[in-house]
Amino acid sequence: MTSVIPFVGKMPEAEAREWIGAMAPQLPGCRIARFVDLKDDDRSTAEVAIVANPDPAELAMLPNLKWVQSLWAGVERLVAEMPGDAVRIVRLADPQMADTMAEAVLAWTLYLHRDMPRYRAQQLARIWQQHALPLPVERRIGLLGLGVLGRRSAELLAGHGFSVAGWSRSNTRIENVETSTGSQGLRAMLARTDILVCLLPLTAETRGILSADTLSLLPKNAAVINFSRGPVVQTGALTALLDSGQLSHAVLDVFDDEPLPPQSPLWTHPAITVLPHISAPTNVGTASAIACANIRHFLKTGEMPESVNRERGY
Ligand code: NAP
Repeated sequence: MTSVIPFVGKMPEAEAREWIGAMAPQLPGCRIARFVDLKDDDRSTAEVAIVANPDPAELAMLPNLKWVQSLWAGVERLVAEMPGDAVRIVRLADPQMADTMAEAVLAWTLYLHRDMPRYRAQQLARIWQQHALPLPVERRIGLLGLGVLGRRSAELLAGHGFSVAGWSRSNTRIENVETSTGSQGLRAMLARTDILVCLLPLTAETRGILSADTLSLLPKNAAVINFSRGPVVQTGALTALLDSGQLSHAVLDVFDDEPLPPQSPLWTHPAITVLPHISAPTNVGTASAIACANIRHFLKTGEMPESVNRERGY
């Protein structure tokens, strides 16, 4: 019997068809169908759905749903919009995405380490001036979040020779990386950090964790890279510290509102580099392979993959 796998997502039809085209050959005996193409019978029997920014009202119309496979790594919206334990949420944990994110973390850390924003500003003002260049080992990088993405980033930064410290909820060991947990660990790490990189998921505990209080612990001239989710950082507190010269620069890939509205002052802030959420795009090829392997395993054995812990929120 053919299993119907609903594909539920708010995305242009061509993009949905690209995903379905990539996954269909990897799920023999299944039919992957966009929500609009589902028949009543398909809706009532589906146990698993593939989701990408789904409309919760559509998911609510799948009464037999046991779990959803997200095509994105960040699932804070799904967690908020699908409360309760009835449907498990499986997020995308893709080693390729970890490599892509680690590459972005290294690239933008080097951008700050090599003073690129300052030399760009000097060029515009026709100023020929050289500044001291610390060795990588003298540059202290602090990573918030040592999960799938943070761990790989920490390894790549340490491999480049930076002095890397990392903070997470539970004790974690990474070679050549100083790790810590808890609020004292966070405060100590911030106080020794020249470039702070945020790779925390957005949860009730991490929302606003980078506040005036915590950001003020960073040494003068420290810089911030936020690649996780906008609301993890209190934007007003960050811009105040940039305006006062306490912090030197921020590279922001994620924002409270995306796309960043044209009237946002962040666009033109001289100490902010704005990126349009590009640090680690989902790759259709590798993400499809992971999602399909999870679904094949479930159809064969009835076992669901590891899912989001509702209490922790990630
Ligand atoms: P993950 O594997 O779930 O790792 C999350 C890390 O954060 C873990 O180390 C976890 O600690 C730590 N953490 C969570 N809550 C914490 C808390 N309250 N206190 C201390 N540490 C806490 O997630 P991931 O795959 O690395 O992804 C991280 C985030 O990156 C995603 O949630 C998403 O928002 C973002 N992202 C952004 C992009 C982009 O293009 N900008 C792309 C993909 C993902 P434990 O290790 O102890 O669990």
